[in-house]
Amino acid sequence: MRCPICDKQFSLDDENAALPFCSVRCKSIDAKRWLNEEYAFETVNLDRLEEEIAGLDAETSEEPGEN
Ligand SMILES: [Zn+2]
Repeated sequence: MRCPICDKQFSLDDENAALPFCSVRCKSIDAKRWLNEEYAFETVNLDRLEEEIAGLDAETSEEPGEN
């Protein structure tokens, strides 16, 4: 199995309380990433912004000029 944080290969045979991470340290790094509002906001916001821009484009081309 590979740790999603540090990319380190580790064995499931070892008793590991931090699954799916290789260690408690990587588990807490992941938790901090999710708790970090800036990190979450940036990712979500960029996706939403692109969707919103695409939606606006579709709306404006559907109604060409309201005279
Ligand atoms: Zn790790």
